[in-house]
Amino acid sequence: MKQHIIYECEKCGKRSKDREKIMICEAAHLGLSVAEKKEWEQLKEKVRYKSAIVSGCKNEQTDKEFDDAIHELMDFEKLHGIEES
Ligand SMILES: [Zn+2]
Repeated sequence: MKQHIIYECEKCGKRSKDREKIMICEAAHLGLSVAEKKEWEQLKEKVRYKSAIVSGCKNEQTDKEFDDAIHELMDFEKLHGIEES
């Protein structure tokens, strides 16, 4: 039995077996290249990570790192004109 994984664009619902195609499609909706979208996702991940650290250990240092991560993400979004809730 063969099993196929179908990838689907979260924005427009376009489907493909080719993961790369869908990654390009999703990035294009945001006006980003695939590499830029990856970078953006890493920045968002960093914010989540730093926020988890702050909730476990809140001090001046962790607060600052969380703040820096948020600003990095905001700068990236501003630069690329991304608005996401
Ligand atoms: Zn799409």
